[in-house]
Amino acid sequence: MGENVTDKFPITTFFIIFSDLDGTLLDHNTYGWQEAQPALNLCKKLHVPVVLVSSKTRAEMEFLRSKLSISAPFVSENGGGIFFPSDRSKGPPAGASFDNGLWKWSFGLSYAHLVRGLKEIRDELRWNIKGFSDMDIEEISQLTGLDHKISRLAAMREFDEPFLVINKQAVDENALHKAAGKRGLTVTSGGRFYHLQGKNDKGKAMEKIISWYKDEHKQVFSIVLGDSPNDFSMLELADFPVLIRSQREFPELKGEIPRLRVTREIGPEGWNNAILDILGKKEEERNV
Ligand SMILES: [Mg+2]
Repeated sequence: MGENVTDKFPITTFFIIFSDLDGTLLDHNTYGWQEAQPALNLCKKLHVPVVLVSSKTRAEMEFLRSKLSISAPFVSENGGGIFFPSDRSKGPPAGASFDNGLWKWSFGLSYAHLVRGLKEIRDELRWNIKGFSDMDIEEISQLTGLDHKISRLAAMREFDEPFLVINKQAVDENALHKAAGKRGLTVTSGGRFYHLQGKNDKGKAMEKIISWYKDEHKQVFSIVLGDSPNDFSMLELADFPVLIRSQREFPELKGEIPRLRVTREIGPEGWNNAILDILGKKEEERNV
């Protein structure tokens, strides 16, 4: 990997990590993060916030945050919702509403609107499209490998409808984008599903969180880790973009983001090595 960041940045620099979950911090198949634990520990020690940014729901992410003991704000459903813990001395973010113990910014379209949109797209394209709203918990569990309890949390959607195109060898993604665009909607691609959403994306959510942190910290440097096209809007904005290796390759991305690092290892192991590499030198300087 590249040189350590603190070759260039003073020790007082405030870093924020923005991380995707599935296939990035979590293993694509097992959803484990064991291999990333050393880097997560280092983040805690250095007070580097880890902002989780996922297409998962608030309910799933709250469950994971408590397992990971992460307290930073988080972004649900591809930038549809941004949630801030309420126990901060700083007070609520401007314009946020209080919702079930968290401060919330909503940027996505309502789930009912998206479900209607998906039905229209299915009728227009005459494809066999199946969304989460068409599936029961058992089916979501089978497709994701999540147990029933977590699948139930995954079905509690607010701003994003995951879907599959069944029995279609090659999906004409242009037709899909066009049909969504006509309705003011966007289709993105995650590790397992397509996602139908509004104009929100992960990158816009990241910008909003950075400006929120800038109230307290003048200079903020972002480290972004992701593995799928729905992470690219964040990677483009990052001071330190890290593409986590996966089954899919994105050879054109390096041309678009020249400072992109691509990990050698997949999932949490790649996450761990990238973060230790980037923040490791910062730790060394602290110990001098
Ligand atoms: Mg992913």
